[in-house]
Amino acid sequence: MLELGMSLPGLQQRASAIAELPALGVLTLAGMTPEPWTCSYRGTSEVCEQSIERILADKPDLVAISALTASIEEAYRLAARLRAHQIPTIIGGLHASACPEEAETWCDSVIVGRGESVWPQVLQDVLAGTLQRRYVVPLNTMPLWPMPRFDLLSQTPARFTLQTQAGCPLACGFCGASRLLSRFAEKPVERIREELAVIQRLMPRPLIELADDNTFAGSRDVNPLFDALQDARARWFTEADWRIGERPEILQRLASSGCQQVLMGIESLVFRYPGMGEKQAELNRIMNAVDAIQSAGVAVNGCFIIGADGETAQSLESLTEFLLNCSLAEIQVTLQTPFPGTSLYRQLQSEGRLLVERGWSAYTLFDVTYQPDCMTVEDLEAGFRNVLRRVFSASATRRRNQIRRRIRNTARSNSRTN
Ligand code: SF4
Repeated sequence: MLELGMSLPGLQQRASAIAELPALGVLTLAGMTPEPWTCSYRGTSEVCEQSIERILADKPDLVAISALTASIEEAYRLAARLRAHQIPTIIGGLHASACPEEAETWCDSVIVGRGESVWPQVLQDVLAGTLQRRYVVPLNTMPLWPMPRFDLLSQTPARFTLQTQAGCPLACGFCGASRLLSRFAEKPVERIREELAVIQRLMPRPLIELADDNTFAGSRDVNPLFDALQDARARWFTEADWRIGERPEILQRLASSGCQQVLMGIESLVFRYPGMGEKQAELNRIMNAVDAIQSAGVAVNGCFIIGADGETAQSLESLTEFLLNCSLAEIQVTLQTPFPGTSLYRQLQSEGRLLVERGWSAYTLFDVTYQPDCMTVEDLEAGFRNVLRRVFSASATRRRNQIRRRIRNTARSNSRTN
């Protein structure tokens, strides 16, 4: 899209912020790896020919890899190279948990689910030379919440990641996050405080991306969590669904506890995904909630999915008009992507609509990976590009920048009156 002349400022910023986030999964496993083991960590951007050569020279006892679908082929190639030098590899994460048979063909071992509860066993097996092909963690296993080894990062990241909960109580049909790794569980606030203290030692006024799928979706009292974030002087970003805009106890404290932006899935305007539960509502109600959040001094980044069943050239035009005129401070527009392990994937697979020849590397959220029901693949690709070109034009971006400035001013004047 950059080649087509689209600068997509908001999307680029968000993409690079996400790409630089520390990988919490492997840092957490490092955190529960006891002495005399030693660990080192390479973020995605640090994996290059030179660093691979160093790993080959160091000959570690084990390399643990985590990768999302779009980069899984790179991860497999890395694993194959390490294995060719007799360095054992173990892989985990959403994609490997959804496709363990595939992952097993590339790596010595696969962890299905959250790895913490099997990690001590994995380490024991490595020492004994009996690494198993697959370690399966039952979905209802309670997370152990070990402390991630942030000290392994080679440099202080722009943002730290912190999980306050695992999974999501909802089950939107396109989403694997809520079901593949563990059941929904909330991290005790005392544990969150300990983690914040560690992060604060590295960044006194930390910038934090909550690595939650849907913060506040549980039923616990939100005040202790807000207290912890506020006491740490954190500036934080998170993902939540629109219902927080109808909860005064959240609106009262969101901005003052340091929340800068909430990413919110408004999803498809033409298709009602199964499993959305109470998240499914009339657009008016959702936008009233957005306005309430923004009036409380926090910007909302509304996320929209293009290409669900029922999408047509007309519906893309309506979406564009809506996005050009709505009150959202930021927007994210991506193509429907049937990630493995989701009910959407199973549906499209059973209907023979997956474009498997495009490979996992096309699962970027910006490439069409299935046959749409009311459009050709080419028309959907062109329609998507056209929506992006219009909603990320200079004037549309300027308009959203103004909305964000107004929200920042509201937050400032609210904090003065409090
Ligand atoms: S609300 Fe968000 S995290 Fe929860 S299932 Fe839906 S898309 Fe996934």
